[in-house]
Amino acid sequence: MARYFVGVDLGGTNIKAGLLDEQARVVSRLSIPAQVDRGPEQVIGNIVSAAESAISQAGVDRRSVAGVGIGSPGPMSHRRGLVINPGNLPCLKNTPLRDIVRERTGLPTTLENDANAAAFGEYWAGAGRGVTDLVMYTLGTGVGGGVIVEGRLLRGFFENGAELGHIIVQPGGRTCSCGQQGCLEAYSSAYYLARRAEELIAAGEPSSLKARVDAGQMLMAEHVVEAARAGDALAARVWDDACRYLALATVTMQHVTNPQRVVMAGGLIAAGDFLLEPIRRHHRALMWKLLDDGPEIIFATLGNDAGFIGAAGCAWEADRTGQW
Ligand SMILES: [Zn+2]
Repeated sequence: MARYFVGVDLGGTNIKAGLLDEQARVVSRLSIPAQVDRGPEQVIGNIVSAAESAISQAGVDRRSVAGVGIGSPGPMSHRRGLVINPGNLPCLKNTPLRDIVRERTGLPTTLENDANAAAFGEYWAGAGRGVTDLVMYTLGTGVGGGVIVEGRLLRGFFENGAELGHIIVQPGGRTCSCGQQGCLEAYSSAYYLARRAEELIAAGEPSSLKARVDAGQMLMAEHVVEAARAGDALAARVWDDACRYLALATVTMQHVTNPQRVVMAGGLIAAGDFLLEPIRRHHRALMWKLLDDGPEIIFATLGNDAGFIGAAGCAWEADRTGQW
């Protein structure tokens, strides 16, 4: 009998869910509002109903559904099945979500960090298909990370592993939102690279972006990309640094987990080759010269679906290994 897996991606605005088969094919998908303002009972009810709808819309025999995977914003605990303190879902603070969903659906359930789940999605069904060792960066407001080692998600003892955005790439550098100095995130996230350009302009450096800043408009990463493409020196430096620090963190990860593929995801990949080429160039210049094997650096392929696909993948993995 075929086996199916429910994946639920828990966001601050929407809950995405879907049903996948063992070959990681999407059989059904849906998105419903999370309704965070209506309190925890409503949000939990919506999570359960999203999972149930994914099954009913697929029209498969419920007995063939092997389990549910949920991707949750952190901090959370996979081991305890606990949502601890999610910034964009404050009403779910300290909620034992795994056990609640398991009880209400009657299905085995696993809870995973959303960045880890997205990385597992690319590993199972996207840009990482066919490899065993993968590192993924999600370049959005922050820099998220996920690491697969020998086919398993890396979590670590305290379950805070794979926080790639907080690898220090510049000792004594820019202060990160986390309080450390010189984190990758402070240079290479879409949000913070734009803040860096604003700060350099405010410090008096010339740039074609100054008019926008002077008009009180917030700089976005795409403005920096556009100006860098047009030859603006400040924008080009901020962009090149963003790429170089990603290459540097990749060299570090090569010495730790030795990935076969490094996958870039998130809003910043809209820049296309303008992002990928400099990362690859810096990586070649910075990497170890003792061996000539290194990871392929490529883009993610699942887009915003990586979350629910990966959550289903985590259920597939739990079912396969018997470790719920
Ligand atoms: Zn940090």
